[in-house]
Amino acid sequence: MELMLSENAAEILIVNENRYQCAFDEIDAGLIITDQYDNIQFVNKTASLLLGNSKDELLNYRLDIFYHSVPDISIEAFIHYSCRQESQVSQLPYTFKILQVPDGRAIPIEEKITYLLDPANEPNGKFIQFKNLTKIRESEIKSFSSKESYLKILEDGPFLICRLNTEGQFNYFNNKWLEFTGRCIDDEIYRGWISKIHPDDRPEFEKILNIAFEEKKNLKTDFRLLNRDGEYSWLFCNLHPFNDITDNYSGYIFICADITDRKTMETELRQAKELAEAANNAKGTFFSNMSHEIRTPLNSIIGLTEVVLDTKLDDEQNKFLRIVKQSSYTLLGLLNNLLESAILDENKEELYERNFYLPEIISAIFDQFQFQADETNLSLSYKIEENTPCQLFGDYFKLQRILMNLLSNAIKFTEAGFIRLRIYSEQSPGFENTGVPKIRLHFVLSDSGIGIPEDKFEMIFENYTQVDSSRTRRFSGAGLGLAIVKKLTELMHGHVWLESKLGKGSCFHVALDLRIALTIK
Ligand code: ADP
Repeated sequence: MELMLSENAAEILIVNENRYQCAFDEIDAGLIITDQYDNIQFVNKTASLLLGNSKDELLNYRLDIFYHSVPDISIEAFIHYSCRQESQVSQLPYTFKILQVPDGRAIPIEEKITYLLDPANEPNGKFIQFKNLTKIRESEIKSFSSKESYLKILEDGPFLICRLNTEGQFNYFNNKWLEFTGRCIDDEIYRGWISKIHPDDRPEFEKILNIAFEEKKNLKTDFRLLNRDGEYSWLFCNLHPFNDITDNYSGYIFICADITDRKTMETELRQAKELAEAANNAKGTFFSNMSHEIRTPLNSIIGLTEVVLDTKLDDEQNKFLRIVKQSSYTLLGLLNNLLESAILDENKEELYERNFYLPEIISAIFDQFQFQADETNLSLSYKIEENTPCQLFGDYFKLQRILMNLLSNAIKFTEAGFIRLRIYSEQSPGFENTGVPKIRLHFVLSDSGIGIPEDKFEMIFENYTQVDSSRTRRFSGAGLGLAIVKKLTELMHGHVWLESKLGKGSCFHVALDLRIALTIK
């Protein structure tokens, strides 16, 4: 009977031991039990995995063969402790240790040792619990170091930062702020610092504060703030509303940057621009005056040369006077372009619209150039297509300037062959909608000259640009003519473009919308 019971008890014991073993194996911490001589009597699965030996190898060996722990004095342990306690202390708790495993690994652990007692309260073994901290430490260190670096940026970074709470009081200023203003926190706190804003900028700042309270959105402003040297510095300020950890609105963060240098530069630039504008205005007035002053005597020279040319002269006198006339025209063209370009660049040019008779304008221009064409044996002609309205209303003076520039170029860049102007009209796209009787006039000037390479089609319409310098030396010119043509055409709400083949000739095309004159000239 006794034996039966013993067998039963033994069975129960084995069953229980197996159950406890299974349960302890599931625990995440390593568990070791020793006797009073430090011989290992029990290890769970986690412990055997951490120590790198099987349970059987560990059992009945002395603890210190496999398990050797020393205080962990690493910075990581310090951070770990700081993260847990949320305050920094210099003394490390003994529970953080390094487990030095026989295979050479050093594992950071959290260790707890409980001394086991016999019924007479005498120590008869140890119960050691230890937890691998490697993974926890890694993530803690990551978040701690980024938190640290954010704090460092906030405190000592390049920005002046302060915080406004929901009651409208400023309750935080970073180091950079205090360093910049040279004042202490007691001077700045609540609304103290606002009195140090430049009096001229304060009303606007107060306005922004009110908007901030009402709208709770990102805002920007700039103002002058008294700095540590007793001078005003310009601050650019970004106001960000922010929420607390429970996602409730809890005020604003003000992030300010010193923009004094930028503001000074802006002021200098503005002053320089105003000066340049004043100088430009003076230049504009000068050019308008000069325009008259220079053209008058030059026109007299041309006119009187023509008068003398009509008198009886010997061949040499005639030749010389023709050169004077030719040079005077060239000079007049150049002067006209220089003055016109200056006036156009000032945007001072306006439209002077009036009635005109198209054939009259065209024939006057061609008369002027016929003389030059004769000199070079060029055939110069124009044709106004049938059905082209000729009684028109618009700024014919500008139309003349456009055509004269194109014609003067055509003559300059055509040594032999022809120069032809074709004028035709089509219904203006604006006609039907507006009811204003408008037509689109096309002026197509073709020459058999040297032509223009396609890659220069656009740039020759810019000021001072020419196809190449060797041409300039050969043909002279200031590179202004086509820029003027383009500006005048655009001023008249028209378009200009060209087609050309190098060595074959060029064709400039101007399209202008003009009104048909209501009263006959
Ligand atoms: P420029 O006073 O030099 O003639 P433009 O602005 O009138 O200045 O013309 C710019 C350049 O375009 C000229 O220098 C020339 O190289 C080219 N160009 C203009 N018209 C013609 C043309 N009809 N044939 C060939 N090249 C031309």
